[in-house]
Amino acid sequence: MTPTPTLFAFSERSRQLQADVARFVAERIVPAEAAFAAHAADPATRWSIPPQLEALKAEARALGLWNLFLPDPERGGHPRHPASPDTGAATHGAGLSNLDYAPIAEITGRSLYAPEVFNCSAPDTGNMEVLMHFATPEQQAPWLPRLLAGEIRSAFAMTEPDVASSDATNIALPIVRDGDHYVINGRKWWTTGAADPRCAILIVMGVTEPEGPPHERQSMVLVPMDTPGVRIVRPLTVFGYDDAPHGHVELSFENVRVPLGNRLGAAGSGFAIAQARLGPGRIHHCMRLIGLAQRALEAMVARARQREAFGRPLGGHGMAQEAIALSRCEIEQARLLTLQAAAALDAHGNKGARDLVGMIKIVAPSMACRVIDRAIQIHGAAGLSQDHFLAQAYAGARSLRLADGPDEVHIASLARSMLRAH
Ligand SMILES: Cc1cc2nc3c(=O)[nH]c(=O)nc-3n(C[C@H](O)[C@H](O)[C@H](O)COP(=O)(O)OP(=O)(O)OC[C@H]3O[C@@H](n4cnc5c(N)ncnc54)[C@H](O)[C@@H]3O)c2cc1C
Repeated sequence: MTPTPTLFAFSERSRQLQADVARFVAERIVPAEAAFAAHAADPATRWSIPPQLEALKAEARALGLWNLFLPDPERGGHPRHPASPDTGAATHGAGLSNLDYAPIAEITGRSLYAPEVFNCSAPDTGNMEVLMHFATPEQQAPWLPRLLAGEIRSAFAMTEPDVASSDATNIALPIVRDGDHYVINGRKWWTTGAADPRCAILIVMGVTEPEGPPHERQSMVLVPMDTPGVRIVRPLTVFGYDDAPHGHVELSFENVRVPLGNRLGAAGSGFAIAQARLGPGRIHHCMRLIGLAQRALEAMVARARQREAFGRPLGGHGMAQEAIALSRCEIEQARLLTLQAAAALDAHGNKGARDLVGMIKIVAPSMACRVIDRAIQIHGAAGLSQDHFLAQAYAGARSLRLADGPDEVHIASLARSMLRAH
C-alpha cells in the first residue's frame, strides 16, 4: 500500500533516499527481524548485540544511508566538528531539511531495528544534537565522533523515581561541587539505552544551583558509563517488554565524581538544554510512529483479505472495513500534520514551530495506538503473540504517550500558547 502523494514537495535527494531506505528496510532489515527476536529471546545472548545488527549498520553506512537525521547546517544543523573523522556524509549527515527527512524517518519507523541500522535512533540522535550544540570541542572529542560513527551509544538520564518528572523543574538529583569535581548521589530511572553494552556516555540532569530560580537550578553533566559508582539497578519493563539489549533502566549514582569541565553549558542551563533537546526529537518519534502505524494497517488489510469468518473474508464484514478505513484516515491526518510541523521547523526554527510540534506529539502516539490496536483485533489472539510485530509495536507507541512528555503536558502547553496569543 503506497502512501498517498502529499501536498509537500520533497527534494530530489530526499526522494532518492526514500527509495533507497525503503528498499533496504524491506529487503535487509524486515527479513532479519526474526533472527533479532530469537537473539533477544535467548537468555544467553539477550543483553548482547546481535552480530547481524553491526553487519547491517556497516552495509547501510557503505551505501551512504547514515546519520540522515542531521539537518543542513543552514537549517540549524552543524558542520563537522574538527575532532570528528572526515568521512564525508558517512559521519556528518545527509544535510536534509526536516521536511525532507520526515518521509525517510517514517520508513525507518516500520521496523524497531531500522533506526539504529541507519544511526538514526533515539536517544543517540538527541544526545548527538546536544553535544553538537552545547558541548565544547574538548567535551565533544571523546564521544561525538564515535557516536556519529555508530561505534558507541549514549543515554539521557533526566527522569527520577521520586519526583513528577514531566515537570523538569522538579528534577532533584544533587550534583554537588567538591573542589574541581562534581559529586553525584541519587537515582534516575527510565534511562533508555543505558543497559546497552556499547553505551559509553550518560548525559545526566541534576541540581547544581539549589538556590537559583526554578528554571535555572539544574545543569547537564557528562558522566562516562564506566565511572566508579554508576550502577544499573534493574531494567524496567513496558507491558513486560524490557527492550533488551538497550533497556530502560533504573540507575544509581553513589559518590560519582566527574570533573567540573564535564558540565555542558552554563551552570543552571539544564532546563533550557532539556527543552532544546526534546524539540526535534519529538517530531522524529512522530515521523517513525506514522511508519509503524502504516505497517500495522498493511498487516490489517492483508489479514482481512486472507482469513475468513462467518462465510466471508474478514474484510467483507462492515466492522473490519470500518477499522481499515478509519485507520487510513487517521494515519493520513497525522502524516500531514507531521509534515506541516517539519516544514514549520525548517521555516521558523524550533521556537516558531513549537505549537505544531506540540500538536503532532499530542496526535501521533494516540493515533498509532488506535491503529495498532485495531490491527491486533483483526489478527485475533495471534495479534497479541510473539508471532507478529503488533504487540511490541503497541507497547512502543503507548510509551510515547508518556516519553518526551505526557500528552497532558503538551495539551496544557498548547492551550497556554493559544490563550497567550489572544
Ligand atoms: C519507554 C520509556 C522510555 C523513556 N526514556 C526516557 C529516557 O531515556 N530518559 C528520561 O529521562 N526519561 C525517559 N522516560 C521517562 C518519561 O520522559 C517520563 O515518564 C515522563 O516525562 C513523565 O514523567 P513521570 O513518569 O515522572 O510522570 P509524572 O510527572 O509523575 O506525571 C504522571 C501523570 O500526571 C499527569 N500530568 C502531569 N502533568 C500534567 C498537567 N500539566 N496536566 C494534567 N495532567 C498532568 C499525566 O497524566 C502524567 O502522565 C521514558 C519513559 C518511557 C515509558
